[in-house]
Amino acid sequence: MQNIPKNIILLISIIIGIIVLYTFSTKTMSGKEILFSDFMDIVESGQMLNVTIKGNQISGQTNTNETFITNTPRYYNDLVPQLYKRGVRFNVESTEANGLLFAILSSWLPIILIIGVWIFFMKQMQGGNKIMGFGKSRSKMLDEDAKRFTFDDVAGIEESKEELDEIVEFLRDPSKFEKLGGRIPTGVLLVGEPGTGKTLLAKAIAGEAQVAFFSISGSDFVEMFVGVGASRVRDLFAQARENAPGIIFIDEIDAVGRHRGAGLGGGNDEREQTLNQLLVELDGFNGNEGVIVIAATNRPDVLDSALTRPGRFDRQVVVPKPDINGRQKILGIHTKELKLAEDVDLKKIAQATPGFTGADLANLANESALIAARQNKKTIGMVDFEEARDKVMMGKERRSMIIPDDEKKTTAYHEAGHAIIAAMLDEVDPVHKVTIIPRGRALGLTMLLPEDDKYSQKESQLRGILMMMMGGRAAEELIFNHFTTGASNDLERATSIANRIVCNWGMNKEIGPIHLSASGDEVFLGRDLMRKRNISQSLANKIDKEVSKIVNTAYQKTMKVLKDNINILHKVSQKLLEQETITGQEILDILGKMQGAHQ
Ligand code: ADP
Ligand code: MG
Ligand code: ZN
Repeated sequence: MQNIPKNIILLISIIIGIIVLYTFSTKTMSGKEILFSDFMDIVESGQMLNVTIKGNQISGQTNTNETFITNTPRYYNDLVPQLYKRGVRFNVESTEANGLLFAILSSWLPIILIIGVWIFFMKQMQGGNKIMGFGKSRSKMLDEDAKRFTFDDVAGIEESKEELDEIVEFLRDPSKFEKLGGRIPTGVLLVGEPGTGKTLLAKAIAGEAQVAFFSISGSDFVEMFVGVGASRVRDLFAQARENAPGIIFIDEIDAVGRHRGAGLGGGNDEREQTLNQLLVELDGFNGNEGVIVIAATNRPDVLDSALTRPGRFDRQVVVPKPDINGRQKILGIHTKELKLAEDVDLKKIAQATPGFTGADLANLANESALIAARQNKKTIGMVDFEEARDKVMMGKERRSMIIPDDEKKTTAYHEAGHAIIAAMLDEVDPVHKVTIIPRGRALGLTMLLPEDDKYSQKESQLRGILMMMMGGRAAEELIFNHFTTGASNDLERATSIANRIVCNWGMNKEIGPIHLSASGDEVFLGRDLMRKRNISQSLANKIDKEVSKIVNTAYQKTMKVLKDNINILHKVSQKLLEQETITGQEILDILGKMQGAHQ
């Protein structure tokens, strides 16, 4: 990249130099420009002493020491005889001689320029330059960088690490495996959601084994020039073979490895060529060359099946989201360099961050340090982590947003509705806190605190969650008897759960245990469009009916619970309006007191 401006500057300065030369070589004659007839008049009058003739130009010096220049008519042959007649000393300068350099340049310039431009392009192509290095792989040799990571930098995905241990062993000492005659996998596919640490893992393997690391992203292969991707693949593998033992890491391989022939409108020939070349290179390995190809993707479902065939990326290593212990360990890694206050409990933070990936947690740790720094604190406290978590999850607090009182009241009842249902139902996670401070796009929030990670959910839990989601809207209807748009997100999520209860999880008696995957997956280019819809109209109607029944039942039940506990609803809303944020414990206190008073 840096080469380009330098070369362009060079080119421009050459051109400027030529122009300067040109102007100088033509401007060797100086003096006052006059008409030819006036010039000849001066000659006739005998006042001209010296005359210099140069091509069409003549300059003359008079006895008063003035210099005049003018141009002669092309076929004016009487000039010399006239000068003789008047006894003027004159001199003829060769036009060739005066501009020798210029003459050479002017005839050779085009050729020199063409050669220059040609050399310029050749240089760019060889240099692996980003713009002009079409055919060269864009891989980066991350020797030093990658070697800085080891398995110690990766936490919470112990099983994935164990599976990759074998690869590290092989890279450390390929001969050990060769002696036994075993076939080592040539391709490993890391599968996991974004941010789970796939890239980090690949680097850590290189670091553990202390081998060369070539990394390239799938999208680097897909270029506007046909054939570039394929030649990049060839080049990448050639480079890696030269530097064996080593790792080729292809990040986001789905960009190049999608099903062939899946594109709408003719497909992408370039991508297919690249993919074919990749397959060829993978087949060319006999495994004992000491090069291992690691690829990462978060969409294994869209990969071409040829890629995952034996002998290619036949080993899949799933990189899952970390569980609670994993999160604690990852937090440990990312807070190692931070100055933490005494009260910071990483286990508690891990508990409060279900579903966070490694990248989310790294972000959380960094964010809390920033929050503490902004307040000029010496150490990072638990409150900063709390604040950072809410910010990462829900967007920044918008304290300055001015909300009319009646809207605030509606929000308070809405959130109180959510919170009370969540607090009362055993199937729903306990309430962590409730707030009516706007955050991100939400006017208020009810946060739950999962007690442990959930891998599957019972139907009763889902129905509890549905009721919790309905709590906001039901409270609004109960108290104000009007609806606001604030509940639209709740309703959307509730409907989606109800839909999956019926279509994906087979929990509905009318429909039965059938998986009807009509929703959810995004349409993948042409393939899914071509797929026939395998649901009959009558079944579709039935589904719609059941979904709406589930949602409406949940709403009615929620309404009844809130009606029976309307005093609690008033009390919690009141407290929310006073304090803006209340904790789960405070809600439990209110619940306990009011229910106790009742009996
Ligand atoms: P992916 O490639 O799966 O999208 P990355 O490897 O790019 O995720 O992760 C981004 C960052 O998140 C890493 O650089 C690291 O700081 C952090 N991270 C992710 N997973 C982990 C983990 N398991 N242990 C420690 N840090 C992690
Ligand atoms: Mg990545
Ligand atoms: Zn709500």
